Amino acid sequence: METHDLVVIGAGPGGYVAAIRAAQLGLNVACVEQAPALGGTCLRIGCIPSKVLLESSERFREARLTLAQHGIRVGSVELDLPTLMKRKETVVQTLTKGVEGLFRKNKITRYAGRGRLDGSGRVTVSQSNGALELQAKHVIIATGSRPALLDGVELDGDRIGTSTEALAYPEVPKHLVVIGAGYIGLELGCVWQRLGAKVTVLEFLDRILPGMDDEVAADAQKIFTKQGLQFRLGCRVTAAKRQGDGCVVESEGAPSLECDRVMLAVGRTAHTEGLGLDSIGIQLNEKGRIPVNDRFETSAAGVFAIGDVIGGAMLAHKAEEEGVACAEGIVTGHGHMNYDTIPAVVFTHPEIASVGKTESQLQQEKVEYRKGIFPFLASGRARTLGTTDGKIKVLADAKTDRVLGVHIIGPQAGELIAEAATAMSFGASSEDIARCCHAHPTLAEALKEADLAGHDSGRPAYCDHENAVDRWFAVDPDLQPHGLRR
Ligand code: NAD
Repeated sequence: METHDLVVIGAGPGGYVAAIRAAQLGLNVACVEQAPALGGTCLRIGCIPSKVLLESSERFREARLTLAQHGIRVGSVELDLPTLMKRKETVVQTLTKGVEGLFRKNKITRYAGRGRLDGSGRVTVSQSNGALELQAKHVIIATGSRPALLDGVELDGDRIGTSTEALAYPEVPKHLVVIGAGYIGLELGCVWQRLGAKVTVLEFLDRILPGMDDEVAADAQKIFTKQGLQFRLGCRVTAAKRQGDGCVVESEGAPSLECDRVMLAVGRTAHTEGLGLDSIGIQLNEKGRIPVNDRFETSAAGVFAIGDVIGGAMLAHKAEEEGVACAEGIVTGHGHMNYDTIPAVVFTHPEIASVGKTESQLQQEKVEYRKGIFPFLASGRARTLGTTDGKIKVLADAKTDRVLGVHIIGPQAGELIAEAATAMSFGASSEDIARCCHAHPTLAEALKEADLAGHDSGRPAYCDHENAVDRWFAVDPDLQPHGLRR
């Protein structure tokens, strides 16, 4: 039996980051992973391959549709799908090998196989030629999630599949039906639409992108419709099955659709099957996730859980932060997480990004807020890029001016949101951001302008320091986000 200070089950962005941080802090760490490559869903069949396809397909669209506006004639543009897919695989392999390198550098023992808890402090690794028993003082469960299934949708691993199949279609579908207008449905729907497929997105709700700001989601729907995506909202899919060479999709209150491929993207489910949770008395919550406290401790002593298997957004960067906080908590007793400033990005074109509260959340919570909007149409940099669709919206507390939410749809929104998330992590007011000098001409100026726009005159309403200090302390006497002292 091998003994380690910490055994991490799962080598996705939560698990591998936790393993590395714990090793850096001096623990003897092992990581158990059943897939042949490290990196989890994110690196192998999620974020990274989908971003490669989004980038390549966007260049294809640009070459066909927009380069001519720049005075560049390229003649006929042809798609070489095998080369595009090969590039995706190369990027994925390079990054998964990078994680292997980090494991070696940090002397993390890697066990290939399926990990299962087997009573207190024991993990069994099932391998093709038998099983290994590991003993560990601490265990972190970081087993992630898998695509949620839908009754009546008969997945066949080929024509009716999930994002995993949609990352590797051998040819451009003639008609792809996407079930679910969330992150995955829109990102991969856009990829195949740009490459030439007719794409119909079926969504149960009366809007796309649930969870994103309503106004931004409505803008996104208009832009994607203009690009050629077709939406059927308020459409609950009840069945999808093979029919001859193709497929048929049935939904309530709408005629059935014939297509040659179906992608199911109705959310993800925590991966907890066969983990042996019963052996240590862990019970899942009503959402099928592992309950933890703010130190990521489960109900079993010495067993922690992070990432998609616990509550909250299923995002790689949230899992990473939790991995670091959990490892630091185990070693030092302190770990830091700020769930209010986790950004979210949809990598369509234009990109959509948000951090903090949406307008409807603030309204539900009866928080008085001020709103500043700046459209990219008015941004010099966006004009030079030729991508003026979209806007930045800043929501700030009406009394303290503290930034509560930032929502962006527009060019490089995924990069721009980092400034907002950083500023919010430091408790910034919208005036703070507005008073920071932003280089010209950049897209980031639009964030400054949206912050300014939230103030009545377009200039910050209160500029005198004393007044600002009073406002902060009036709301929360313990709040000293600017390092202000009375
Ligand atoms: P999602 O929750 O974002 O969207 C699923 C959509 O399916 C919802 O709009 C839902 O209303 C709809 N739906 C559910 N049942 C339906 C039915 N019967 N008929 C029609 N529509 C139905 O889920 P997703 O897009 O599958 O993404 C899963 C997770 O992966 C998300 O939590 C997301 O955070 C994460 N993810 C993130 C990124 C990113 O950060 N860029 C990219 C992909 C995935």
